[in-house]
Amino acid sequence: MKNIHKSQIAFVIAGLLGLNAAVGIAAQKSDQAQPTRASANTSPMAAIAYFNLKNSDGVATKEAYFAKNPAARDTKLAGQAPYVAILSCADSRVPMEAVVESDSGSMASDIFSVRVAGNVVGDDAIASLEYAVKYLNTPLLLVLGHEQCGAVSATMGDYGVGGALPQLLGKIRPAVQMGTKNCAGCTQDQLLEKCIEENVRLGMNELMSRSEKIRTLVGEGKVAIGCGVINLANNKIKWVVAPAVK
Ligand SMILES: [Zn+2]
Repeated sequence: MKNIHKSQIAFVIAGLLGLNAAVGIAAQKSDQAQPTRASANTSPMAAIAYFNLKNSDGVATKEAYFAKNPAARDTKLAGQAPYVAILSCADSRVPMEAVVESDSGSMASDIFSVRVAGNVVGDDAIASLEYAVKYLNTPLLLVLGHEQCGAVSATMGDYGVGGALPQLLGKIRPAVQMGTKNCAGCTQDQLLEKCIEENVRLGMNELMSRSEKIRTLVGEGKVAIGCGVINLANNKIKWVVAPAVK
């Protein structure tokens, strides 16, 4: 396992960072004034141009919507009221707004979204979620992983990644150890699936054990908490712990 080829390491890290979403999209190496589509292999200059173009598109879409629904802009500017706070992975294939459609009536999201590779629980994630349940009165708190999570598979592989990645993967390691312990005789794909499930369970338990605020609100029945894994093919969630009111 440790003698893995460099190209495989690059693939794993690319998957971890969500950079493999461009599969099937032609790489655009040349800088273009009007790029048709940027991808992970686009040059930085072309990526900037495409980003600015898409921002202009987004502005135009919203302006057209607000022209027809002027009150919606006021609703958006008045503040946020998300009914669900979700800790999920940074993987570009699982934007929460695509997994759970919003219906806020203001072209805003109904989701207070906290995303970090491997949906790991760090101090900043805890603080963000505490903000949602304490100051926004958000009543539903979820930890959602997804199939084929590169962060979990990188933790399983022990590929010797550098930089800041080891401390992140270290947060996933207990889930991999638990998954491995409970998956004797599993294939590699089954083991990855089990470790991803254990990772969301670990994340939910971490939120409960490390945040007195979250623990208290869940205990009082003011916040429901749960965790699950997103099916990449259709966005359906397989609950590991279905959210329920205590
Ligand atoms: Zn992931």
